[in-house]
Amino acid sequence: MKGYHSAQVDVRVRLNTNESPDAPPEGFSAALAERLAGIDWNRYPSRSAEELRSGIADLHDTSQANVFAANGSNEVIQTLLLSYAGPGRRVGLFSPTYALHAHIARVVGSEVITAPRGPDFRVGAGAAARFAAAEQPDVLFLCSPNNPTGTVEDPETVQAALEAVAGYGGLLITDEAYVQFAGREPGRFSAVDLLAEDAPLVVCRTFSKAWALAAVRLGYALAPARITEELHKVVLPYHLDVMTQEIGLLCLQDAAAADRRAAGIVAEREILAAGLAALPVDQWPSGANFILFRPSERDGGAVWRELVERSILVRDCSSWEGLSGCLRVTVGTPEENALFLEALGDVLR
Ligand code: PMP
Repeated sequence: MKGYHSAQVDVRVRLNTNESPDAPPEGFSAALAERLAGIDWNRYPSRSAEELRSGIADLHDTSQANVFAANGSNEVIQTLLLSYAGPGRRVGLFSPTYALHAHIARVVGSEVITAPRGPDFRVGAGAAARFAAAEQPDVLFLCSPNNPTGTVEDPETVQAALEAVAGYGGLLITDEAYVQFAGREPGRFSAVDLLAEDAPLVVCRTFSKAWALAAVRLGYALAPARITEELHKVVLPYHLDVMTQEIGLLCLQDAAAADRRAAGIVAEREILAAGLAALPVDQWPSGANFILFRPSERDGGAVWRELVERSILVRDCSSWEGLSGCLRVTVGTPEENALFLEALGDVLR
C-alpha cells in the first residue's frame, strides 16, 4: 500500500491542507492554561467524555447518546470502518473524494468500490441511488462539501443515498468536515436534519477547519445511539485525552465563533474565485474553504512546482484519478490569497 501524503515544504504561504488561516480568539491560550491548572494529571481522563459529548449534543439539539467524539474526524472514520467494514465487506464512495475514506477502508481489509462523479463533480440523487442499490456496499461515503472538489450535494442526493442503503441494510456516512463554508444561512441543509434513531446514517464533523483547531485533533460523529454504542466498544479506552476534552469544552463556550470565522473565509473565497476567474484556469464552484482549479494552458504539476519556487504551497492533485492537471488552493488570509494570485499570475503569464 501507499501511505497518505501531503507535502510539508518550508514555504512562506501554506495553502495546502485546508486549515483555518486564523488562530482561535485572543485569550484562548490563557483560558486553557487556567483550565489545565485544575487537572489531576495522575488520573485517566473521562473515558466516555460525557461533558464534551453533551456540549456537542447541545449544538445540534440532540442528546449525548447520539455523539461519538474522537481524535479528529479521521479517527471517527477509522472507528466507523473498524465497526462496520473490514474483511469481506465493501465500502463505496464517489470518486474523486477525500483519499482517507478509501485508505482507511483498505487498511481495515475492506474492498473499495467507486462510482465516478459527474463532469461538474456532483453525484446527484439518481446516480447515488443507482450505485447504492446495484452495488450494495456495506458502508457508503458521501462527502459534502466534497474534498478536493468543493462540490455541495443537494438534500435530495443525501436523502436518495440514505433511502437506498436503508433498503438493503447498509450504512451511509456523510462527511461534513467543511459544512460551515457551504453558505445559504440560516436554512443551510445538513445531513444532520435526516438523523433519526431508525435511520442508518452517520454525520462526521471536525474541529480542524471552521473551529481553527487542526493542531488539537478533535472530531465527532452524530448518529443513532445504537451506532455510537458500537463505536464506544471498538475505540480504545481513554482514547480522547484530557487536554483535547478541555479544549473542546473551552471552544464550545463560544460556539458561534466557528460560523463567524467561516463567514469571513467564505467572503475571502469569493474574492479568490474572482481573482482566479481573471487567469487562464478552469475552476469549480466551492462550498468549502478551498477552491479546485486547473490551469487551462499549462501542466498542473509544473505550475505547482513553479509556485513552490515562489514559496507558495498548494495541493497538487494533478496526478489523482479524475483530477488530471488540477490543483487545490486553501483560502488563506487576504494577504496570503493576494500573494498566491500574484504568484500564479506570474507563473501563467
Ligand atoms: N474529512 C474530510 C473531507 C477532510 O478533508 C478532512 C481533513 N482534510 C478530514 C475529514 C479529517 O479531518 P480531521 O481528522 O482533522 O478532523
